[in-house]
Amino acid sequence: CSMGRKEDMASAAQKLMGQQEDVRNIGIVAHIDHGKTTLSDNLIAAAGLINKELAGKQQFMDFEDQEQDRGITINAANISLVPNVLGKQYLINMIDTPGHVDFGGEVIRAMRAVDGVVLVVDAVEGVMPQTETVIRQALRENVRPVLFINKVDRLINELQVDEAEMQKRFVKTITQVNILIQTNAPAGKDQTWQVNPGNGTVTFGSAYNHWAVSTTSMKRTGINFKQVYDLMKSDQQKEIAAKSPLEDTMFEMVVGHLPNPIQAQKYRSAVIWSGDKESEVGVSMLACDPKGPVAMMVTDVSVDPHAGDIATGRVYSGTLKKGVKVKLIGLQKEATINRVGVYMGPEFVEVESIPAGSIGAIVGLREAYAGQTVSELDMREFESFKTNVEPVITVSIEAKQTKDLPKLIEVIRQLTKEDPNLRASINQTTGEHLLSGMGELHLEINQYRIEKTHGVPITVSPPIVVYHETIQIASPELEGKSPNKHNKLLMMVEPIPHEIHEKLMDAKVKGKVKLKDKEWIDKFQQAGIGIDESKKVWAIENYNLLVDGTKGIQALHEIRELVIQGFQEAMHAGPLAKEEVHGVKVTLIDGKLHEDAIH
Ligand code: GDP
Repeated sequence: CSMGRKEDMASAAQKLMGQQEDVRNIGIVAHIDHGKTTLSDNLIAAAGLINKELAGKQQFMDFEDQEQDRGITINAANISLVPNVLGKQYLINMIDTPGHVDFGGEVIRAMRAVDGVVLVVDAVEGVMPQTETVIRQALRENVRPVLFINKVDRLINELQVDEAEMQKRFVKTITQVNILIQTNAPAGKDQTWQVNPGNGTVTFGSAYNHWAVSTTSMKRTGINFKQVYDLMKSDQQKEIAAKSPLEDTMFEMVVGHLPNPIQAQKYRSAVIWSGDKESEVGVSMLACDPKGPVAMMVTDVSVDPHAGDIATGRVYSGTLKKGVKVKLIGLQKEATINRVGVYMGPEFVEVESIPAGSIGAIVGLREAYAGQTVSELDMREFESFKTNVEPVITVSIEAKQTKDLPKLIEVIRQLTKEDPNLRASINQTTGEHLLSGMGELHLEINQYRIEKTHGVPITVSPPIVVYHETIQIASPELEGKSPNKHNKLLMMVEPIPHEIHEKLMDAKVKGKVKLKDKEWIDKFQQAGIGIDESKKVWAIENYNLLVDGTKGIQALHEIRELVIQGFQEAMHAGPLAKEEVHGVKVTLIDGKLHEDAIH
């Protein structure tokens, strides 16, 4: 029965995708346990996919059994909803993102697909560390927030506050959220994006008890705060839910205050893509034109045992359709689209086409990865995700039975493809497989996936923390000799300021620098390095810089490669503990080279 519903919804979604004013791409973000999943379930129930009474207990979006058992959201699942809002049908592509810090990378990727977020905050706990993080992540991507203060019932049932105290708590949370918006908003949006109960950008309610109110909904339903308070007090939340259902108020806020893709792409295009605005793709993205060339950014890849790789992402220009030839930019590969579809929670439902401004999925792009640009033209790639999350913990894993080894390798390949924050490597000395992740929970869940989902029994070492080396103060100038003692080099080492280091990580620059290469020089300058120094960088390794600070040394080019090589080796295995070195600038100040190049 629910299967039929899914098909119906998919075909309604298909129709609405063409009416871009009626589309909203949204995320639901929050600190862990503040109620994202309960809210999503309610909205999905309202659209008819799950039983309303079960909403909040069923965890429809948390479909991986690990998520059900642990009661948390791991994957950013996506679903297309087609609710009727005040007599008009809309398409709401919704992503429920994880709140646990171990899965922050998922949130960052999801932000690229959406234009707005509903920020869920627990009325009792208020703004928590992860609330701040998700607000920053959204604003960094030019994604507009609205606020849902959830679990209002707890204020009455657990804290027994009076009306005045309740108001005071709301004001405190709203003020904290607005300070975060003001300090992190993109230019020109710090005031216009403030949330305000007066204009309906703040909603109060209880997702678990299926109700929500805002000043806008109160005008419509005629019930006021006093009545809501009294009904809560007298244990009649069902009454509130009947008069002011959660989904009505929530969809009203989403449709009324979060931008449609035409509005959003006007200001987001320049942030997510730095190509030529006058080019064919540039013009089409700015206009969110379904007739333009295809430009899609993949934000999530999942590997389906039957269908193969499914690449989900946001279409910014053109229309995904069967038979369209696309390029996987950056990989120099081409592919022909043979199936496209939308996600109805766990299920992929095929549709005819996905036009600009929607979130959709392509089946069969074998080599796509999260962050990939897919286009009909040779366009410049989308900006990479602003993520500098690096794995912090590692375990070594081994197949219990040697015959499982090829399968284990394949499973690891698949898991790291689906989750860019999971890294795999092989310890060259011992031959062990090393799996690195964002925290113990992250690795435990992947261990479970290997063993239970994919059926490969493994033994896992206790986790080891990934250490890095760095320095805290600048060294004196120090002289070293080449092994043959014929050459002397004067060098110094100093810390790279934290901000510059972060920007270098954000921009993911690494490697040997081509002399006078404008693109490299630009990247260094954008990270905050002065123009003169930017021109003198020889190499960047693990975000450490090697800078040539010498003047007029003859034949310096003869040793350039060797100095870079030495630098790279030192940055990979530092002098303290042979761990990776991070955040260090090495400057070559002067040198005396043997006259004879052979030495
Ligand atoms: P998530 O981690 O943000 O997805 O949070 P969940 O939706 O899983 O909710 C976390 C816990 O809070 C669950 O036990 C929910 O039943 C509970 N919860 C969610 N909404 C409410 C609410 O409005 N009132 C109360 N009292 N509990 C709620």
